[in-house]
Amino acid sequence: MVKRFDGREYNEIRKINIKLNVVDNARGSAIFSFGDTVALAAVYGPKPSKMSLDYKKAFLRVRYNMLTFSTPERKKPTPGRREIELSEVIKRALEPALLLEEIPGSIVDIYIEILNADAGTRTASINAASLALSLSGIPMKDIVVALAVGKIGEKIVADLNKEEEDYDSEKLKKDHEKSKYIEYYGEGRATDIPVAIIPSEKRFTLIQLDGEISNKELNDSLNLALEKALEIKNLMKNNILKHLSSDNFIY
Ligand code: ADP
Repeated sequence: MVKRFDGREYNEIRKINIKLNVVDNARGSAIFSFGDTVALAAVYGPKPSKMSLDYKKAFLRVRYNMLTFSTPERKKPTPGRREIELSEVIKRALEPALLLEEIPGSIVDIYIEILNADAGTRTASINAASLALSLSGIPMKDIVVALAVGKIGEKIVADLNKEEEDYDSEKLKKDHEKSKYIEYYGEGRATDIPVAIIPSEKRFTLIQLDGEISNKELNDSLNLALEKALEIKNLMKNNILKHLSSDNFIY
């Protein structure tokens, strides 16, 4: 029976790989991957800052960057509009989970590098940053968990890869090898919905939508995201607990 391009079920996320405290001089760092999409996040601070002296809470800065060799065609090294926007999107997704009022007058920097990109880099970045933040001791009420859900053709799926994000049944009809996938996904193009969730509150801190979708399908997609976010949270939490109880952790 035909399944997704890479053989997954509709609700199956790509293989998750987590590595913790990979950058020596950062307060906390992590690598999070969804299949071939690999994000590295490093947290520096909190450090005193003049920028935040007037505020009652710490100032959060996020920089998202895709490395030039992270995509099949070499990407320009200078940060483009997309990277500036994604830095802001990721910051807004993380901030509601952080208790920045507990560390006023300081600044927290999060640097994110995409080592390899196959769609879902903002969601992998949010997960890597959440892990790095939790290791860095920045006060948080929960970890933020992110993933993309969406509609490909007529099918609701979890965690789209690049080939799925680019889905177009009209184009596939001309491709002898791939046209069989129309039987699985159906007619149409792809709608990508990256989301971030604070699992303990079932609160969405990010919902973006690129494409078209009905209210019912959006509802089904968000329910699928919530279910999968809980699974990812458990995996992230277990990795942190294992790391903290191992010899790797020197306090
Ligand atoms: P996300 O990575 O969060 O899904 P986008 O929808 O903007 O964000 O990008 C989807 C995918 O398109 C990326 O993960 C990457 O594989 C590819 N991509 C994005 N920007 C570039 C670029 N400048 N050069 C090459 N590939 C890119």
